[in-house]
Amino acid sequence: MSDTATLYIDGAWVASSDGGTRTVTCPADGTIVGVVSEATSSDTETAIAAARRAFDAGEWSARPAAARGDLLLAVADALTSRKAEFARAEALDTGKRLVEAEGDIDDIVRCFRYFGKIADQHPGRLVDAGDPTVVSQVVYEPVGVCGMITPWNFPLLQASWKIAPALAAGCTFVLKPAELTPHTAILLMDVLDRLDIPDGVANLVLGAGAVAGAPLSAHPDVDLVSFTGGLVTGRRIAEAASHSVKKVALELGGKNPNIIFADANLEAAVDNALNAGFLDSGLVCSAGTRLIVEESIKEAFVDELVRRAEGIVLGGPFDPEAEAGPLISTEHRDKVTDYVNRGVAAGATLRCGGTWGGPELEKGCFYRPTVLDHCAIDNPAVVEEGFGPVITVETFTTEAEAIATANHTEYGLAGAVWTSDRGTAHRVSRALRHGTIWINDYHPYVPQAEWGGFKASGNGRELGLTGLEEYREAKHIYENTEPAVTGWFPQK
Ligand code: NAD
Repeated sequence: MSDTATLYIDGAWVASSDGGTRTVTCPADGTIVGVVSEATSSDTETAIAAARRAFDAGEWSARPAAARGDLLLAVADALTSRKAEFARAEALDTGKRLVEAEGDIDDIVRCFRYFGKIADQHPGRLVDAGDPTVVSQVVYEPVGVCGMITPWNFPLLQASWKIAPALAAGCTFVLKPAELTPHTAILLMDVLDRLDIPDGVANLVLGAGAVAGAPLSAHPDVDLVSFTGGLVTGRRIAEAASHSVKKVALELGGKNPNIIFADANLEAAVDNALNAGFLDSGLVCSAGTRLIVEESIKEAFVDELVRRAEGIVLGGPFDPEAEAGPLISTEHRDKVTDYVNRGVAAGATLRCGGTWGGPELEKGCFYRPTVLDHCAIDNPAVVEEGFGPVITVETFTTEAEAIATANHTEYGLAGAVWTSDRGTAHRVSRALRHGTIWINDYHPYVPQAEWGGFKASGNGRELGLTGLEEYREAKHIYENTEPAVTGWFPQK
């Protein structure tokens, strides 16, 4: 495809209908990564129509589920052999370190393999209708046309959590990735284009959410919209989707507690607290940015955290010395700056960070790892998702207080508890109202296990069996093998 024909609609690479383009830059140094088409809303409607035709034609959904699974395994193989190309594209668009982008591609491969392998599992079940002359079965069918809207922090990973189960289930889709990070989505369509998949099953539109993305939530021909991104956009999408009463899956933000009891392995806990908050520069929906430490160890723990945070080296994707990358844009850095300033104004103590990257990094959107100490529970930095490398510190003295503090948030995505007492660990894990809980760890996940949020962190689940169910409709087929007159209405 040429640079300006980067929309993939109905099996063909096309440019935007009004010729619009967007220049994508690397947030680490502002260099131009590429120029891509900027779809209009009517381009998205064209893509929806293609996905609708392909779904209604039935060729894809009629394929044996195992054959659809095989196609996903072929995607995994192609991603493995083109890993360097994909990782480089992801690193350039996001500015994240190449090693992190490589890890993302490995995770994407695992996701496609997982859904490829379970595509023909759990096809349905017979249920006992209580009558031997009745065959009552529940079958699963694809939801239909899926709109997918994804963010910029893990661009292809978030898309793969939707695309892999949707294809496994026999759906067709239109993907609208974040406008700042389109290149790996383009590469994935190139992979699909080379495989045996009917035209119109997979479609890609690029561009601004309110223009290219909006039809995916509002259009009646879209049966399901699956969105990953911020809470404000999620609410908009749910509202727009309500008119056509389509299925809505939302993976939104988090304000994730990382609880440290005094009896924890503190060396491991402080090391993981750094990962929890600063991995990927904190641009992780499940980032453990809310440190909740037992009062008796708080001073020593936070001193060590701050000492190590101050030593983190920032740099671009290909800088071998770099330990963390930039934020996504100057606008985003302004938001993080304002968020930290408001936290300090509300009484938090700035222990480290709170500044941009320094003179050698001035072309990039860097922000120093930041620790805000002495935070009250209603400090805006504790309440809001800052979405940057910022850890806030609160304390507790009892287990009940730790749980109450960790649950005091409108979000409910993820959290961790650190203790050497397994009883405490499991009691606290069950009491936390968050979708993923780590005990003595932070961040690992596996595609076999469900991912998603309680409360304002969203609805529905990605990954795991439930992640496949999102893209299937259950249908009950009740067969009377010996039809007879019921006599309910007497013959007259
Ligand atoms: P965002 O909500 O600004 O944008 C996400 C996507 O929505 C983008 O593709 C954008 O173009 C699109 N969009 C914006 N307005 C739209 C509209 N009116 N209609 C349709 N589409 C629209 O989010 P972001 O800043 O890109 O991503 C960061 C957010 O994503 C954070 O809140 C983070 O926590 C969340 N996130 C959640 C998860 C999860 O698994 N729960 C994973 C990653 C990121």
